[in-house]
Amino acid sequence: MSALARKRTDSEAHPGHVAGLASSPHRPLVVGCRLGQRDALARAPRPSPALFVDRDGVLVENRDSYIREPADVRRIRGTGPALRAIQERGIPIVIVSNQSAAGRRLISLAETVEIHRHVLRLLAADGIYPACSLICPHHPDDGCRCRKPAPGMPLAAAAAHGLDLPRSCLVGDARSDVAVARRAGVGRAFLVTTGRGAREAELMSATERRSVTLSEDLAAAVGTWIAGSHRAQRARESGSSQ
Ligand SMILES: [Mg+2]
Ligand SMILES: [Zn+2]
Repeated sequence: MSALARKRTDSEAHPGHVAGLASSPHRPLVVGCRLGQRDALARAPRPSPALFVDRDGVLVENRDSYIREPADVRRIRGTGPALRAIQERGIPIVIVSNQSAAGRRLISLAETVEIHRHVLRLLAADGIYPACSLICPHHPDDGCRCRKPAPGMPLAAAAAHGLDLPRSCLVGDARSDVAVARRAGVGRAFLVTTGRGAREAELMSATERRSVTLSEDLAAAVGTWIAGSHRAQRARESGSSQ
């Protein structure tokens, strides 16, 4: 069993272990990796490309004062069909989300986990089962390796599940998402203008802008990524047949 899978099992079997993670600033919290993992990952050829998605501002609406309880969670429209299209292609979905409200002591770690489980339940009700979902609950000053823009979360998921990072894609609404894609070696990054994305896009340097594709929302980003993958595939096929 991988270290990541063991960690998930431990934290689910022993709720106290979750609380203990508050003093473990170097590891992301694994919540709900089990959901749909067998389906999505069993069908995926190894190493498989993955779709990495940020949570707040991409899957659910951002709140200026943090999401502090399950009732604060609002899905962003259009994310369901986009994610199902990804699943139908056998591409694993991996959520990578900074959730510093616990590190900032605004809510507890258990509340952070409960909110995230609620997001996963809403996705499951829509037929969407992320292969893996990671959250960084730490404070920005903790110096952890998982808080984006550090690349810890995508690297951990890739190591645990045999993911092909250069052929993967990351969709986020912040410059830190774009940076994490670059630092983890994720081949393609999209900045969506839902959530904080519109403001973040204005703040980007010319260099940052060159490394990212701006998209209206997750559905547009996924559509562009899939179309680009098809073009690349056709180019490889015509190249190899000549
Ligand atoms: Mg975000
Ligand atoms: Zn962290």
